[in-house]
Amino acid sequence: MILTVTLNTAVDLTYHVPTLRQHTTHRVTETQDRPGGKGVNVARVLARLGHPTTVTGFAGGPTGAWLREALSGEPHLKDALVPIGGTTRRTVAVVDAAGGDTTQFNEPGPTVTAAEWEALKKAYASLLPGAEAVALCGSLPPGVPVGAYAHLIREARSAGVPVLLDTSGEPLRRGIAARPDLVKPNAAELADLTGTRDPRHAARAARRRGARAVVASLGAEGLLAETPVGAWRAAPPGPVRGNPTGAGDSVVAGLLAGLAEGADWPDRLVRAAALSAATVHASAAGEYDEAAYRDLAARITATALPGAA
Ligand code: ATP
Ligand code: MG
Ligand code: MG
Repeated sequence: MILTVTLNTAVDLTYHVPTLRQHTTHRVTETQDRPGGKGVNVARVLARLGHPTTVTGFAGGPTGAWLREALSGEPHLKDALVPIGGTTRRTVAVVDAAGGDTTQFNEPGPTVTAAEWEALKKAYASLLPGAEAVALCGSLPPGVPVGAYAHLIREARSAGVPVLLDTSGEPLRRGIAARPDLVKPNAAELADLTGTRDPRHAARAARRRGARAVVASLGAEGLLAETPVGAWRAAPPGPVRGNPTGAGDSVVAGLLAGLAEGADWPDRLVRAAALSAATVHASAAGEYDEAAYRDLAARITATALPGAA
């Protein structure tokens, strides 16, 4: 199975309104509730692709119970979330039907106690031996040490399990120093990490800091990979209109699915680019448009870039 870790799980609420304006009362035309948090999105996409996937992280309170109940209906997905005394956060996305834009509100998440963090580390250590790969995704809730991902990466490495990190800021900086097999920053995260706006220079700098491979996601421009065996670009045929939230999570799912199936780098990148663009087509994070995915996977190619990595 593939293991995903979401320390800051969420229940994602989406409100659709005709036009979003300040100082106005809005009529909500449609409401959706979904299991959320970055690793949960990754897991839902992997499960829909048919990969056995296990979800760990924290869940608590009524929202945590709702999240677990919602995940229990997903084939191929196993819940190994660790219970906490606090209440799982909600996020609210308000979709403006007129402009198509999304306005996002994210709660910070419940404070995790030292004992709960210890329980997570224990659960993680017991899940690692059964994992083909592990993905560590998203922000850290209050109470979890800033070096949490660095710790989880070292554990995965000593268990011989390939580990992917998708986070930002200081947890990303510390995580990279622990030498993960792969990091998946977006353009802003990569620039913030390295101080360089040129994605290729920045990806190479991230490798020098300890990431074995870097796949940078560049929005509608697709993916840039810098790996020990070569560098590639893979881009969608053109920009897709839709909801880009969770597109990066689908990149992670595509890369992990390819890794688990023993695909080479160009093939992994094609899957990741197609799956993420097909996620922009779909209305919500953690979901993708199946027909668009198949069509895009047949049309996208990965182009090798000159120069040693
Ligand atoms: P998130 O964290 O919300 O999941 P992200 O900011 O990490 O997303 P992005 O770089 O925005 O990730 O998008 C991930 C990938 O999704 C891109 O590399 C690209 O392959 C695809 N993608 C994103 N936006 C578009 C778009 N408008 N058209 C086509 N593909 C897109
Ligand atoms: Mg983005
Ligand atoms: Mg992202």
